[in-house]
Amino acid sequence: ATGLILHCRAGFESEVAAEVLARCEEHGFLGVVHSQPDTAIVRFALHDAVPWQSLLAITPFADWIFARERHAWIGSIADLPTQDRAGVIAQDLAVRGLRCGRVICEFADTNAAKEVSGFLRRFTPHLEKALSRVGVLTPSETAPTLHLFFDTSAACEIGLSAPGDASPWPMGVPRLRMPRGAPSRSTLKLAEAFYALMSEKERDKSLRAGLRAVDLGAAPGGWTLQFAQRGVHVTAVDNGPLSAEVLATGMVEHRRADGFTWRPPKPVDWMVCDMVEQPARVAVLMADWLVKGNCRRTIFNLKLPMKKRFKEIAHCRELIDKRLREQGLRYTLRMKHLYHDREEITAYLTLI
Ligand code: SAM
Repeated sequence: ATGLILHCRAGFESEVAAEVLARCEEHGFLGVVHSQPDTAIVRFALHDAVPWQSLLAITPFADWIFARERHAWIGSIADLPTQDRAGVIAQDLAVRGLRCGRVICEFADTNAAKEVSGFLRRFTPHLEKALSRVGVLTPSETAPTLHLFFDTSAACEIGLSAPGDASPWPMGVPRLRMPRGAPSRSTLKLAEAFYALMSEKERDKSLRAGLRAVDLGAAPGGWTLQFAQRGVHVTAVDNGPLSAEVLATGMVEHRRADGFTWRPPKPVDWMVCDMVEQPARVAVLMADWLVKGNCRRTIFNLKLPMKKRFKEIAHCRELIDKRLREQGLRYTLRMKHLYHDREEITAYLTLI
């Protein structure tokens, strides 16, 4: 590969740049970052090419925080003709000897890229046919995924990722439906977190009917509803009101209390926290619930400052690590800037 292409929310390019440089330098992969503000795309160009698998292996997708999706960048096709673009791309990739099990045509998540996105919707089926005809595309769950990134309809960049080491959604953009009766869009954030931060096995084990959850800062009840709809009983802690539809599920008990001091009388399976507070204060509270045995796992938001976001996250990670290690506890901590996150990231923390 000659580098990496990474997708993010527009405005977070410098966070991705900091992350990519830190991770690649740590492993001796030297190169330069190309990014423009508000383009939602960051390119990292290596000084010396390496096999694409070894470049991706330095950081599994799950460990990237600000990259919604990332793949190895192996080349470009410029000056595409207006006639038979699909055929030209297919021929180019066949000559390179590429084989893939799936193809994703990508564009940046910006208003400026809307035109490209319309073009790709019409173009992708033709391209798939052309790629199958020349033997580049053979449906398979184990073969690499081919990513073709288009800035315009006249050129594309070629990339690869390994299945299972990528976002569950093309370009990291989830297609989730608002559940019926949801009082706020933030319900989608927890729905996304369940898929983006947990494995299928973890979900099957921990999102079962009959379990118990606490939701700190629950009002109006979007996160609470995600549990209630899965048959999980919720204690919703907030001084503010919960929506009548959420209460009507019959799965929810509302406690008007301070989320920083309230604790459950008996251990629960889940605690989630969406209180708008200083990130360090939230991080310490999350670790303390695990140390005290109040819950087994937690998903929480860290609202980030406008500047030094990457540094603030490292600080929160250190606080959690210190508190849990003092007690000899081993843990899993995953953090992501989700599609539904704005000035915050979402984290999943559980003991091993
Ligand atoms: N997750 C919720 C949803 O999906 O509907 C939205 C939560 S909203 C962003 C933050 C909530 O945290 C507010 O309702 C606020 O009242 C609550 N909150 C802030 N500080 C709190 C505290 N110390 N104790 C309890 N609730 C708090």
